[in-house]
Amino acid sequence: MSLHRGPGADGARSPRLSVNPFLQEAFPAAATAEVPPRHRIPDAPIAPETAYQIVHDELMLDGNSRLNLATFVTTWMEPQAARLMGECRDKNMIDKDEYPRTAELERRCVSMLSALWNAPVDHGVGCSTTGSSEACMLAGMALKRRWAKRNADRYPAARPNLVMGVNVQVCWDKFCNFWEVEPRLVPMEGNRFHLDPQAAADLCDENTIGVVAVLGSTFDGSYEPVADVCAALDALQERTGLDVPVHVDGASGAMVAPFLDPDLVWDFRLPRVSSINTSGHKYGLVYPGVGWALWRTHDDLPEDLVFRVNYLGGDMPTFALNFSRPGAQVAAQYYTFLRLGREGFRAVQQSARNVARSLAERIDALGDFTLLTRGDELPVFAFTTTDPNGPFDVFDVSRRMRERGWLIPAYTFPPHREDLSVLRVVCRNGFSADLADLLMEDLRTLLPELRAQSAPLDRPRSVATAFHH
Ligand SMILES: *Cc1c(COP(=O)(O)O)cnc(C)c1O
Repeated sequence: MSLHRGPGADGARSPRLSVNPFLQEAFPAAATAEVPPRHRIPDAPIAPETAYQIVHDELMLDGNSRLNLATFVTTWMEPQAARLMGECRDKNMIDKDEYPRTAELERRCVSMLSALWNAPVDHGVGCSTTGSSEACMLAGMALKRRWAKRNADRYPAARPNLVMGVNVQVCWDKFCNFWEVEPRLVPMEGNRFHLDPQAAADLCDENTIGVVAVLGSTFDGSYEPVADVCAALDALQERTGLDVPVHVDGASGAMVAPFLDPDLVWDFRLPRVSSINTSGHKYGLVYPGVGWALWRTHDDLPEDLVFRVNYLGGDMPTFALNFSRPGAQVAAQYYTFLRLGREGFRAVQQSARNVARSLAERIDALGDFTLLTRGDELPVFAFTTTDPNGPFDVFDVSRRMRERGWLIPAYTFPPHREDLSVLRVVCRNGFSADLADLLMEDLRTLLPELRAQSAPLDRPRSVATAFHH
């Protein structure tokens, strides 16, 4: 029997759908008088065009990703990359046997990143993941396992802890929760919105599995001082004998700093840096979701965490939370490396930084706002209203810009700066100088109305949630 239940297919009309044959070809969804159920699987099939139209129409109400200045995640790729991903959509990353070339591209990407981050080993130690969150889980697990081995006499009675700034991305809260590690958070203080090296060292003890340094912070786009964190931990080791490894969460910055700030020493050149993660789908310039986790040497990744899968009669090590996952993103990551080269990456990231800097400068010049960062580390900046008692606040700005299609999140800072609320703009590949001009135009148009308010409107109950990206 044909699955097509419209008139003319097998003569039988679906009992649930009455179809207007004149509309069906031009606009299939309009042709069906009855809407299929939304919360249970319908009893009968419908025509593929009709199903397509229904889902397509519903998705039209999603935002326009190019106007989304909240997310760090890639929203534009070249058509060739999209074509390649389409060709690979049936490839399963775990089937190393069936897709040995995809597995090879993954290995090459690990090798390229390992060289980019100056690891002391040939070809690198690491893997692709679904994103930085999974990569951070894997890196955290390696830190915890290494600590447990070093402390076999005391573990599991002792409770492991992880030291990091209060500004870390939510994936670290998840890691600590899921793997029962105590989070030790260094609060913000005054105009310091990220990790303080000495404060981090002061929180370390014999149960510290590691310190996380973020390059750069999702709150304001600033780089944490990785080298200073390592130096403070070197001093701690000299004083106490404690040898605490550092993980760098380079979800965004590990794909920016190597190209734009080659003199900044934050990576495996620092002997204390034992692992690094990045999101291939952020400044790695690939559609979601792909991430990377790399370790300094084989000693930094405990062998007993690695599983072996059959691979062309031999065996292939894997370290992952998922089993099956798409291979297309890995092919696309290899494509971006090949296509852009180091020079191309530098050019793309530089233009994002140029757009961010110029936008930050123009917003600064308006006088209504005070910048926390200027877009000169990540191509990201945060700003707040200059007058805390003024007629409008950051939430008003976010809401009013939303009316014009712009998604600019406003949110309140964590301890000890809960008094501070900011707006944050993330500039990415595809957010052109042209679009930035349009954004400025809209902001300038809105300002007289905002200044004319008698007071800020009530704060939205739930603040924009997208900023964690
Ligand atoms: C985005 C981000 C993450 C989470 O990465 P996903 O790829 O979205 O899972 C972790 N840490 C930092 C610093 C981030 O910016």
